[in-house]
This record gives sequence, C-alpha cells and structure tokens, in this order.
Amino acid sequence: MSRKAEREVQTTKSVAFSLRNVLNKALDEEPLCREEICSLLSIRHKEDLGALFETARILRTRYFGDEVFLYGFVYFSTYCRNSCAFCLYRSPNDVVKRYRKPDEEVVSTAVELAESGVHLVDLTMGEDMFYLRPGDGPLLPDLISKVKSSTGLPLMVSPGVVSDDILIRLKNAGADWYACYQETHNRELFSKLRQNQDYDLRFGRKVFAKKIGFLIEEGILAGVGETVEDVADSIEAMKALGAHQVRVMTFVPQPGTPMSTWPRVAGLRELIITAVFRLVFPDKLVVGSLDVEGLPGLESRLMAGANVVTSIIPPRKGLMGVSQSTLGVDEGLRTVAAVKTVLQELGLKVASHKRYRDWMNRVNVMQEFSYNPR
Ligand code: SF4
Repeated sequence: MSRKAEREVQTTKSVAFSLRNVLNKALDEEPLCREEICSLLSIRHKEDLGALFETARILRTRYFGDEVFLYGFVYFSTYCRNSCAFCLYRSPNDVVKRYRKPDEEVVSTAVELAESGVHLVDLTMGEDMFYLRPGDGPLLPDLISKVKSSTGLPLMVSPGVVSDDILIRLKNAGADWYACYQETHNRELFSKLRQNQDYDLRFGRKVFAKKIGFLIEEGILAGVGETVEDVADSIEAMKALGAHQVRVMTFVPQPGTPMSTWPRVAGLRELIITAVFRLVFPDKLVVGSLDVEGLPGLESRLMAGANVVTSIIPPRKGLMGVSQSTLGVDEGLRTVAAVKTVLQELGLKVASHKRYRDWMNRVNVMQEFSYNPR
C-alpha cells in the first residue's frame, strides 16, 4: 500500500495525531496543516524525536546530499540605534564593547574567510546610522562593493530596517542576501522584544527586498516566551514571505539588558523547530548556528536537518558573535577547519562553491562570483 493510501486509511480510523502519518506526509512533500505542525513542535518522547530528526535528515539528503554550506560572519559594527530587549548591543547597554571596524580590516577579514573556504560572507552590523546616513551617500554600499570585488563570494547583509533606496543601492553594490529577523511573528511579543519598532515596517522590508531580487533569510528566537502556536505562526509567515533561508536560535540572556535574568530554555526546542523547518521547507536552507553553543552544539543541529553552518568567525581579530559574543572565537573553534572535523564525523562534507552557486541559480538569482580558492 502506498504511503498516501496508508494515510487515508489511518485518517478514517482516527483523527488523532499520528506521528508516522505526518512524517510520511512530509516525506511525500505534501503541505502539513497547522495542527500537524503544532503536533510536531510538541513532540517530547525520545523515540518520536528520533523519528522527526531522521525524517529531517532524509529530506536534507534528498535536496543537498551530504553537502553543507558554510557562512563566514563579520560583525563589523556593534553600534545600534535600537533597544531590543534581548540584545547585548541594544543602544542603552553600556556593558558592551563597541567597535566599528575600518573598511580595510573588514575586507581583509572577508578575504581570509573566503580563503578558508566559506561559501558566503555575512556582513552584519547594528542599525548604525554611520553607515546609513544620506550625506554624500550611505557608506555601506561602498563597503559591500569592496568586499564583493575582493572575495567574489555571495554576500549577505543585515543592516536592519532601511529605506527602499538603500536596499536598491545595497543590491546594486553586490549584496545577494538580506537578513532581517522578525524574531517572532506574534505582534504582542514582538513589541516586547523589539521595543518601539514597527512590526509591519520590518516585515515589509523583506517583502520589498525580495521583490528587487534579494534572497531572504528570516529568523526567530526560541525561549523568549513564545508558544507552539506562535512558532506555527512564524512558519506560516516564513512561507508567505517565501524565505529562502530560515533560522531559529535559542535565546541566551545578555548582561546589561532587561532580559538578563530571563530563564534559558533547553536547547531541544531549537532542534525541534530546526527539524520542523526542514519538513516544511525541504529544499530551502536551514541554519545551524555556532552562535548559541559553539562547536559542541553543531552536531545536534546538523542531526536535526540543518544544512548551513553560520557564524564562522576568524580568531583573534576582535570580532564578536551575536548571542554568544566570544564563545570559541579566539580558540579557533568557529573556523572552517573546526567545522570540517564535525562534518566528517557525521559523514557530511563541505559543499563545492559550484554547488552553492547552482542552488542560488535554481532560485533564480544569478550571481557572478569568480573566487575559487580550491
Ligand atoms: S537585535 Fe539588532 S536592531 Fe536590535 S538592538 Fe540588537 S543590533 Fe540593534
């Protein structure tokens, strides 16, 4: 009996949630309904979790084989005009070390990352008006052009909420991806997390960026007071947006912030959401970040179906991560070499640059990048 027929029989027997039924449906790439998504997000038994993660890995293999993409991270400015309650770099936080890296240093770091084998360089900053103010023209597009011409790699930018004009300039300067995380799609929770920010304005930036040809990364936080229903809402919003890459990160309480004493949830929640992302978005990029638990946390994220390792940071350059600003950085545990050891243990490998380019081409964003360090 086919899996579809098997499901129909089961459905007539009972309307109750059947994990095997839902997982088979995911394997057949039939859209999961909200109730099914919520059921998956609520799994707690060890065997059921094993089945969920295994299904996520099967789907990853179907689209990406044993290959994983690696993203270098350059947090070049830790200044920000906003006051997100969860963020170390919120404007009023005076316990944080702030810096703005000179352009030459950003470029040389990006080149070093490219030579180490990353597929993409993620240029991240807070909403730092130094790079965005009109004046003679915003400085960020110029920096992007320099990094693009020096590395030839695809670039991701995370400048926050910026105007149409700036987004167009960033795209023309060579940026391929726009990352702008909502963190939650529950408006009430959003207003508590992203204090004094406009939900629709932020979401609308991604809609516009996609329209002008950007690839879009959308992301949420786990452990900030969200419910299973909220996560299901986020998945629906990501689907409606047509996000090309999705990420969930466990919230890590940050010193000097209103959420500094917020209880940290177990990492399992992030793994479950990661696996459900893979089931709902089988052919998309799903992130496993080094920014929460560093290298020791990578295996579980890959076993949950992630196929992009983010937050690779060169050591001893004074560059910070986001939620774990220094974890493993200077010890060289957030490098391509360190990530490769974990991939090998799991029977995975670093994808070729061509493979990444092919994936980008498949989503109709043609980019020329000539850099090939191999
Ligand atoms: S999350 Fe981003 S926008 Fe919010 S305070 Fe931190 S750096 Fe600024």
